[in-house]
Amino acid sequence: MNTLRHFLVAFLLIFFVSVTALAQITDDAVWEMTRPTEPFKVIANVYYVGTGDVASYLITSDEGHILIDSGFEETVPLIEASVRSLGFKLEDVRILLNNHAHFDHCGGLKTLKDKTGAKLYSVKRQAEVLKTGGASDFRFGGEQIFKPVDPDKIIEDGEVVSLGGNELATVLTPGHTKGATTWTMKVSENGQIFTVIFLSSLSNLDYDLVANEGYPEVGSDFESTFDKLLKLKPDVFLGSHAGFFRMRQKFLAMRSGADKNPFIDPEGYRAFVLRMKQDFEKKREEQRSAGKEGR
Ligand SMILES: [Zn+2]
Repeated sequence: MNTLRHFLVAFLLIFFVSVTALAQITDDAVWEMTRPTEPFKVIANVYYVGTGDVASYLITSDEGHILIDSGFEETVPLIEASVRSLGFKLEDVRILLNNHAHFDHCGGLKTLKDKTGAKLYSVKRQAEVLKTGGASDFRFGGEQIFKPVDPDKIIEDGEVVSLGGNELATVLTPGHTKGATTWTMKVSENGQIFTVIFLSSLSNLDYDLVANEGYPEVGSDFESTFDKLLKLKPDVFLGSHAGFFRMRQKFLAMRSGADKNPFIDPEGYRAFVLRMKQDFEKKREEQRSAGKEGR
């Protein structure tokens, strides 16, 4: 859980220090979240183009590309460089998606939208937060914390986002945010079909999971999200932070010539979801007990 704890520390740190002061923070986690890393092909036409820890994925086709997540506004140039170094053009991105509207994942969407002319697709629950630059977020809202960006198309839970033969199934997975969204898609490699999951975040940060005024259904949303995710059986486990799916180890194994693609990791996926579920249940139980004692 170290990665998650680091993430939380970094996340809160960044919120209290302005984003522009990011470069001055020497915390390891922030360094990891904003440092450049080598882009690479994960499987088939799915590429990692994010930073050391904040994921962005390029899904390519002859008819244009899909880009999941923008990273921070400050790290957009890193994504751009990664896309180009893989031999693709940023201008060929036609669809932008966002796993959840926290500024480490959506801060660069406006810039990317302006640069590419791509259409931003979002579930309704998230659209408002994106439009207000985070001001309407129940936890971190109140003021604008990233460049507001207008979604072009509202997508529903279960809707398939299609482009050039790629079909991404939208799976609403709320809890971490009200509109947290996961996608799954099938890819083909070496004559085999694999299901890839692009998992949103499942961490409960410092949330009140029992009596949350800004998000009363947070507990039941997390519950149904975990149920839903445990019913899915993806082969390739990818997520919004590299630490979720141990990207570094898998990348190194792949580079040193592993027989099987290390990103094919159904057990790792299940273990991660179960771990996050346990963490949620434990936290909620502690909060319930503390609430009873308080009365
Ligand atoms: Zn987040």
